[in-house]
Amino acid sequence: MQDLKIQKIDVFQVDLPYSGGVYLLSGGREYRSFDATIVRVTTNTGIEGWGESTPFGATYIASHALGTRAGIAEIAPSLLGRDPRQVDRINDAMDFALIGHNHAKTALDVACWDILGKSVGLPVCELLGGGTGKPLPMISSIYAGDPEEMRRRTADHRARGYLGHSVKIGALDSEGGPALDAERIAACLADKKPGEFFIVDANGGLLPETALRMLRLLPQGMDFVLEAPCATIRETMSLRKRCPYPIVLDELAQLDEDIAFIVANDLADGIGLKISKAGGLTHGRRHRDICRAAGLTMSVQETAGSAIAFAAIVHLGATIPTRLLRCVLKSDDMVTAKTAKFNAQYGDGGVIPPDLPGLGIEVDHAVLGEPVMVWGN
Ligand SMILES: [Mg+2]
Repeated sequence: MQDLKIQKIDVFQVDLPYSGGVYLLSGGREYRSFDATIVRVTTNTGIEGWGESTPFGATYIASHALGTRAGIAEIAPSLLGRDPRQVDRINDAMDFALIGHNHAKTALDVACWDILGKSVGLPVCELLGGGTGKPLPMISSIYAGDPEEMRRRTADHRARGYLGHSVKIGALDSEGGPALDAERIAACLADKKPGEFFIVDANGGLLPETALRMLRLLPQGMDFVLEAPCATIRETMSLRKRCPYPIVLDELAQLDEDIAFIVANDLADGIGLKISKAGGLTHGRRHRDICRAAGLTMSVQETAGSAIAFAAIVHLGATIPTRLLRCVLKSDDMVTAKTAKFNAQYGDGGVIPPDLPGLGIEVDHAVLGEPVMVWGN
């Protein structure tokens, strides 16, 4: 095997303004911009690999942008001199340097996959098992708001070719409570077309009590899955026994052991597989395989992110059999900054990864600016 070593690691910081103005999530959470950390890993032969990690603010899961960069600073020195193609060994080295902090490890892991692809002249999806060749349906993200206004935003995404819609709910009683959430769901599903798919996502904002009240206020025959209804495993277990809708877990499905626990306890029918939540493509691949073995559907997403993050989403999503893949999140559509050109193909209701080595991206250096941290030379 040719000698290939990590020689240099650069970290860039880019602000990604939300393209829709203000994004509203359950519990009064608001987001206007996402702080992206982008990593370039350079080898002794001159191959460059790129990766991104962009937490959804500091109030979504236990990750935040300053922590991402601090985590990378903790890990990066121990990766210099290692072979980036040995992605599992890279992850072992990262775990030895720092416990936890998956979001920090993600950008480094994805950059190593990009290098692996470029080193053998193959797209990342081929190295993850091979792309299905089928277009991956994309999901919109409909933030919580006035029901009729959410219905209009759903229609707008439908017109732009989105087949899936992630409808955000989770109103406190003081904001309108279960009645408002039921109205939001009914409004967003009112114009549902054949082949469309709806995820109703509470982002952990409901209690078993408010979830049950909300479900009983819904009209008959609503076809959707309920994502992340509750914030804790205990609450989810309690609701699961009494909920007539399929449950998908997202914020509670982060680590390898979370996925194993969810399967062992039959806690969900699907997961939202966010690459930076899992810790990168190496862990994402493992989650994919556990879910496939258990018959759980997957929606491949990111917490947030620009075109570099979207490229990783598409390469992993492309390897999931069609009947198990709900959709992929077009994360770069949610932000206005264009960090890279991702040469994917769009059409037939979805996206297909490019037939180019690695992630198939061309980074825009002007948008990235100068690195904020550098190791090696
Ligand atoms: Mg979600």
